[in-house]
Amino acid sequence: MPNLLEYTPSGWYCPIGDFFIDPHAPVERAVVTHGHTDHACPGSRHYLAAASSVLVLKERLGPDADIEALPFGQSMTMNGVNVSLHPAGHVLGSAQVRIEYRGEVWVVSGDYKTVAEPSCEPFEPVRCHVFVTESTFALPVYRWQPQSEIMAEIHAWWRANQDQGRTSVLFAYALGKTQRLLAALDPEAGPICVHGAARVFLPAYEAAGVRFPPIHSAEAAEVRRFAGRALVLAPYSSFRTPWFHALGPTSTASASGWMQIRGHRRRQGVDRGFVLSDHADWEGLLSAIRATGAERIGVTHGHTEVLCRWLREQGTDCWQASLVRRWSEDVG
Ligand SMILES: [Zn+2]
Ligand SMILES: [Zn+2]
Repeated sequence: MPNLLEYTPSGWYCPIGDFFIDPHAPVERAVVTHGHTDHACPGSRHYLAAASSVLVLKERLGPDADIEALPFGQSMTMNGVNVSLHPAGHVLGSAQVRIEYRGEVWVVSGDYKTVAEPSCEPFEPVRCHVFVTESTFALPVYRWQPQSEIMAEIHAWWRANQDQGRTSVLFAYALGKTQRLLAALDPEAGPICVHGAARVFLPAYEAAGVRFPPIHSAEAAEVRRFAGRALVLAPYSSFRTPWFHALGPTSTASASGWMQIRGHRRRQGVDRGFVLSDHADWEGLLSAIRATGAERIGVTHGHTEVLCRWLREQGTDCWQASLVRRWSEDVG
């Protein structure tokens, strides 16, 4: 029997089922784990994705994209291969892909985080023979603090800025991180403004039952009206644009797993860094891998070498599945 999945220049391919997972180029049939641009490539003929990710994917793949919705936990058959999707806990609707053929089970994790929070379905471990895991933060130095502690730091920073009459501008990825922050912000603390790049995804979240506080537009005139009391959620790409300069006095911060590395914050030129990641930390990766019970682990997407070496030392069969590192908005 051939491998259930093989890595090709276009991405993970299932030769028996004749479909790709998160292909980097247009293909006939694509299973898409989630809406980040390094996973959701436009132009394929047919897509299969988790039901709760479809509205997000329409923003990314275009309104006419042919997307078949599969609810989490239900399965379908493609050329005799059983396919089902299971929550990856990374952003709304993010899925692990489970593939079964003649009793052999492979799971491709996509991006995942093991800590549960209200903006997306919690990560669900899936038993399998072969587990293909991401490794974005696969170094022992990555160890996330609880979200409640990070949110307390963010609110304290916001209050201190209000005392100085400075608008708090918190940079976060437009899909996932912004909605996670928004669901955890206290509207009693002051007005919350959300940049248009992230607002487009809010209806998808609201349709899935995620609750947000009241929000305001992030147009500069609107933000200035709040005279330094507002917190603005915006993508980092908006930093130092004419829009940003029109906000008046500001204090800036980024929310990302990379903020754990001091040099990264300095390079970004922001005043504060909050370590909040939508990926698993080192312990999260190891516990997720153990929970699959898999006898072989494929490692992609990040610190593949470190994680592979560590797993081999523990006696786990492991290989570095090559993944072309492309520009990504979400690595963090
Ligand atoms: Zn992602
Ligand atoms: Zn990714």
